[in-house]
Amino acid sequence: MKAAIVAVGSELLGSERLDTNSLRLTTLLDRHGVELRRKAVIGDSVEELAAEVRAQAERVELVLVTGGLGPTADDVTREAVARALGLELVFHPDVVEEIERRFASFGRRMPEVNRRQGYLLAGAERIANGRGTAPGQIVEVGGCTLFLFPGVPNELEGMILSHLEPWLAARSGGEARESVVLKIACVPESEVEERIGPAYEEFGRETITILAKPGEIRLVATAQGREGERRERLEAMRARLAELAGEAVFATGEEETLEGVVGELLRRAGATLTAAESCTGGLLSQRITAIPGSSDYFLGGAVTYSNDLKTRLVGVPPELLAAHGAVSEPVARAMASGVRDALGSDYGVSITGVAGPGGGSAEKPVGTVHIALAGPRAEGSDDVEHRKVRFPGDRERIRWQSAQLALEMLRRRLLKTAGAASEGSGS
Ligand code: AMP
Ligand code: MG
Repeated sequence: MKAAIVAVGSELLGSERLDTNSLRLTTLLDRHGVELRRKAVIGDSVEELAAEVRAQAERVELVLVTGGLGPTADDVTREAVARALGLELVFHPDVVEEIERRFASFGRRMPEVNRRQGYLLAGAERIANGRGTAPGQIVEVGGCTLFLFPGVPNELEGMILSHLEPWLAARSGGEARESVVLKIACVPESEVEERIGPAYEEFGRETITILAKPGEIRLVATAQGREGERRERLEAMRARLAELAGEAVFATGEEETLEGVVGELLRRAGATLTAAESCTGGLLSQRITAIPGSSDYFLGGAVTYSNDLKTRLVGVPPELLAAHGAVSEPVARAMASGVRDALGSDYGVSITGVAGPGGGSAEKPVGTVHIALAGPRAEGSDDVEHRKVRFPGDRERIRWQSAQLALEMLRRRLLKTAGAASEGSGS
């Protein structure tokens, strides 16, 4: 089946608003093996829209229109599609009554303009809108099915789930494409590729994609077919990729984040964390606290940007700063154990580096970052691990990757501790 998407709205032709509805619709078409032939953005013009809809209805079997179903004069989709297809618009009093009831439920009277939303194309099926006033419509003309959806993404989503998805599923005979995602932090793309090599041979090279951004890699495995066999194959791919990539995989779902995973590990361990940040200026703390419920394990931290505050807030000895400089292993270590002890947490993490663009030297070029992680205070010795890295990229990238690596060090450490604890308990 071939399809076209038409996004309606003059605002989408400007520089302020992006047409995201077509991306959402494309995901769905893709999943159901429908070939998208054309995507258009049309302003609020009856003539332009009618011409576009007429042209597409002759070329493809499925036309998806979003936007322009509102009550105001610039909402012209009803009129334009009627004109394009040579159909009458029929007034449905029951649709208007429904809209009136919706307004009444908010204690308001329906404005007179909303009566326009009571017009449906002759022969169209109405799609009820549980999230707004504009009903959607489905109409079939000469071998082409057209869906008219509201432009508001949340209202569109409701109708996708209630009508478009089932419609596509019925026509594709249950055949669909689906993907699973595995995420990996702080491992170079080439190394990931090498590790998962065997999976390419087992499942086919085109079924697995590596998407890399600094500090994070997404492995996307895709399978096509009927639900049962598709799910089975996806599960097999997911398991095999997880096995090959090993503990580098921090998430097996699109929604999971590294900071979320670290938070969950801290929560399960019943452990608390504090952070001393220099070149990241609080970015690590920001990411950790972006997770709801992070107060269960994150006590807080200190942005110790100056040498003086590294000493006053987290107790870095001035001699250490004088001898090695702020961007150094001894200072990173002292910051990590210092913030832990000063603020009273189980773990302390620190970041100090040269984020650039200035401030680099031959010995400490831009991108040089020291990260340290202090574990729970032990009798006699103190257990602080440290990594020195040189990140590529600009200031923003260096800072982001620094926070990313600190989180990844935490994750690995907490995994190891959890593993040791469960071995110790004999389970
Ligand atoms: P409309 O249904 O044309 O009244 O659109 C209502 C609102 O939905 C617009 O003001 C936009 O904010 C949003 N919207 C419309 N079309 C799109 C689109 N293609 N992508 C994302 N948002 C949209
Ligand atoms: Mg509009």
